[in-house]
Amino acid sequence: VKEIGKPERAVVTTCAYCGVGCTFRAEMRGEQLVRMVPWKEGKANRGHSCVKGRFAYGYASHQDRVLNPMIRDSIDLPWREVSWDEALRYTADKVRQIKAESGARALGGITSSRCTNEETFLVQKLIRAGFGANNVDTCARVCHSPTGYGLSQTFGTSAGTQDFDSVMDSDVIMVIGANPTDAHPVFGSRMKRRLRQGAKLIVIDPRRIDLVRSPNIQADYHLPLQPGTNVAVLTSIAHVIVTEGLADEAFIRERCDWDEYQDWAAFVSDPKNSPEFLEAVTRVPAEAVRGAARLFATGGNGAIYYGLGVTEHSQGSSTVMSIANLAMATGNIGRRGVGVNPLRGQNNVQGSCDMGSFPHELSGYRHISDGATRKLFEDDWGVKLDSEPGLRIPNMLDAAVDGTFRGIYIQGEDILQSDPDTKHVSAGLAAMDLVIVQDLFLNETANYAHVFLPGSTFLEKDGTFTNAERRIQPVRKVMEPANGYADWEVTQLLANAMGLDWNYTHPSQILAEIARLTPTFTGVSWERLNAEGSLQWPVNDKFPDGAPIMHVDGFVRGKGKFIVTEYVPTDEKTGPRFPLLLTTGRILSQYNVGAQTRRTGNVAWHSEDVLEMHATDAENRGLKSGDWAKLSSRTGDTTLRVQVTDRVAPGVVYTTFHHPTTQANVVTTDFSDWATNCPEYKVTAVQITPSNGP
Ligand code: SF4
Repeated sequence: VKEIGKPERAVVTTCAYCGVGCTFRAEMRGEQLVRMVPWKEGKANRGHSCVKGRFAYGYASHQDRVLNPMIRDSIDLPWREVSWDEALRYTADKVRQIKAESGARALGGITSSRCTNEETFLVQKLIRAGFGANNVDTCARVCHSPTGYGLSQTFGTSAGTQDFDSVMDSDVIMVIGANPTDAHPVFGSRMKRRLRQGAKLIVIDPRRIDLVRSPNIQADYHLPLQPGTNVAVLTSIAHVIVTEGLADEAFIRERCDWDEYQDWAAFVSDPKNSPEFLEAVTRVPAEAVRGAARLFATGGNGAIYYGLGVTEHSQGSSTVMSIANLAMATGNIGRRGVGVNPLRGQNNVQGSCDMGSFPHELSGYRHISDGATRKLFEDDWGVKLDSEPGLRIPNMLDAAVDGTFRGIYIQGEDILQSDPDTKHVSAGLAAMDLVIVQDLFLNETANYAHVFLPGSTFLEKDGTFTNAERRIQPVRKVMEPANGYADWEVTQLLANAMGLDWNYTHPSQILAEIARLTPTFTGVSWERLNAEGSLQWPVNDKFPDGAPIMHVDGFVRGKGKFIVTEYVPTDEKTGPRFPLLLTTGRILSQYNVGAQTRRTGNVAWHSEDVLEMHATDAENRGLKSGDWAKLSSRTGDTTLRVQVTDRVAPGVVYTTFHHPTTQANVVTTDFSDWATNCPEYKVTAVQITPSNGP
């Protein structure tokens, strides 16, 4: 046991792992972080934490961190360590050259959901005002972009409707495509507390997640649907609610567009949308769907929580809208205990979307084509903005292969590991003349970079994160940046090397600019956050103290909008060559591609991605637990160890994606959500054959 000793000082800050946003007291001795203690006054966690936030901070001082800038003229050459001055001058010259030769639209960038709101805001400002194009996208593209689209269409704003505490007033909890006990553990514990108090539970998931059956908790309904059929299941639930007269017509008449409701009700009432008819598609017994629908409509306060099992599909946006339809049809919006709640993956997914990281939107989700909004920014920034929406990440990569997109600035995202169809990503990156990577580690994407700018950890900066309940929380500097600069300072240095004149001396000034330009943030300030601990947006004249629950007196868009969401099967088909469907998820102790959690320096973090498969599928292939198997799809193959389980049904296999050796994205397809291009990570037709190992 290592003697920790008495801390000399402590700083209260926010966890940088998941969208729960737990508050911690970071205890220091000298410049060494000795302990992270969950903070009782943290409004998101109230003194609780999971293992990641509490123990997995060793990556901040890991030997793999790159602390000096590096450049190279070609990706075939070795890196050359240079001064910050030289790296910034080299980068700015290259950006200017590409702009002169190919125009501003040949340049773009990607913001990070791991960075602060202020850092994200500055990156999109640099792309729009410095590079001169709207080719800015965010890593939320590959996770919750359908949430942004779906909820803004139906309710009028791209965010969850409730605070976390709201779950304690829920009578029926529906969890769809999420695994809160592994991926959002502190909120998952709160949900379990409510379930132990007697709330009913409906789980819609191809896999039997822990919530379905765990000590003192048994789901009332588990609908183990075929991957890719979320819309069909939700439509069949809606069919039961409407045809059995269980819809809350009083709520709908008062709060929603009645004509649109009637169109939707006629659509879901069609016998072809009955659970019996759709059973052949969803593989969920019709009686279970009917029971779950009746329970949700009549069981009291009904709350829906969902995750990437909803969004990462070719019908991701349709599924989000189906969920919103269901909540409106049952009157479950606008008070405690109800609502539609996306469980955000990364610490600042909500914030990165709020900050104008999408190519068509400025901060606060206002379209770039809107002249009045553009003028507000143009006057403040002293530049003329492009009025055309820019390119999304996959389109930037396509354009690079075509030769029309030549340079990208990527802050805090490893797109080679985290984006779909690795071959497509590497081809796009390899075709560019300038790839600037700003990160803690020389990640996989950096293999294609010409400039590497060292990044800083959440412990080395001030700023704010916004969690899944729209809670803006302070991030406070615990130690000096090991590389010399916080990420926001590096972006500012780059902007100034390009001839801009930015003079921020503290992120509070960037936050003040965000508040000045963003209607949902007008009442937010660094001083207020320090005094009050956190604020839940919108914070403005209408909601001076913020809004824990949204859409209380009316939807942000006015009347709630029912949208017909027809089930359209994915183009990813099983067949004789690829007869099984692969879906993916996370484990509690690891985080995404593991860049941080695998570098904790703690043996407890040694884990392995395994391939879960049903005994029938395993036996048919002569496989047993512990054997190596080759996982092949139409796009590639990888090797994993088998774990035989009854968590998945025959025909469905499952793995996690925390280790680079797994390369799960080598096998995923390039199909994506029809509205947002969010990749269809959750459905891949695969074959599994015995292997001797990697
Ligand atoms: Fe951090 Fe999320 Fe764990 Fe809280 S639940 S400690 S925010 S990883």
